[in-house]
Parts: sequence; C-alpha cells; structure tokens
Amino acid sequence: MEEIKRIALVAHDNRKKDLIEWAEWNHEVLIHHELISTGTTGKLVEEAINERLNDEEAQHFEITKLKSGPLGGDQQLGAMIAEGGIDLLIFLWDPMQPQPHDVDVKALLRISVLYNIPTACNRSTADFMISSPLLNAEYEPELKDYSDYIGRTVVYERE
Ligand code: PGA
Repeated sequence: MEEIKRIALVAHDNRKKDLIEWAEWNHEVLIHHELISTGTTGKLVEEAINERLNDEEAQHFEITKLKSGPLGGDQQLGAMIAEGGIDLLIFLWDPMQPQPHDVDVKALLRISVLYNIPTACNRSTADFMISSPLLNAEYEPELKDYSDYIGRTVVYERE
C-alpha cells in the first residue's frame, strides 16, 4: 500500500446517514486519499463532502462511483480487491434488514478477509482506522500463501 490509500465506502440504506456523518466529520483526511464507492453511497457522500470544500479543493475532489450495490457494485468492489485495487474497506452493512443482494454482501466481506484488507463494518472501527498512523504510511498486508491450493492435484476422469 502507498501513502495515499484507495478507500472503498459502502453503506446500506439504513446506514447511509451514519456513513455520511462520518465522512463529513473526517472529510479533511478523506480528501487526501482516493475514494471509491458503490453508486448511491458515492453520490451522497460526494455531495456531503463537496459542501464542505472550498472551490480549489472541490476541483480536485471526486469519488469513483461504481454501480449501485444490488446492481453489481459490491461485486465490482470485490473484483477490485482481488486485483489489488482497494486498500481499505468501510462497509456499513445493515444488521437489521435482509438485503436482496445478501450473497454479494457476503462475497465482498469474504474477499476482503481473503486479501487481508482492513475492513470497518461500524463507525467505531472506521474511527480507529482513520486515526491509525498506518493510514498515511506505506504498509504491506501479510498475505497467506495459497500456492499449495493453486498447485493442488484435481483428480477427474475423462469421458
Ligand atoms: P448503494 O449500494 O451505495 O448503491 O446504495 C450499497 C449496497 O447495498 O451495497
């Protein structure tokens, strides 16, 4: 990871207020990093942060917006993680309501664990993450060695 982090921001509808408040509170830190979001979260967070920026800052600030989560945005983020394109994930998922794209939510959380991506699922963890000295330092996450798995022998019979 470089000093400038690629931070993914995602919130389910009932958690969007939390994430927007958190992003407003931390906007001075966030604007120095690269932000990537699912569609609706990105639009709302961008609007909220933009209101706090001067013209000069606003010119350089933009959130990369993927598809909306239920329309494939979570999967796009998962693919970016697998390709090494995301450094941190802030994912305020809703513990009180089932989601139509529950499998995508699980898949995103699974891939973030697999690739050892720092992941915050609530505001307190996000607070600890954003105030960590590692946020502005280079950092190499330890990755498990999957070469045994990749090189495993798969037994199958030809027809
Ligand atoms: P949204 O998607 O930002 O487009 O609302 C979030 C999600 O449900 O993953």
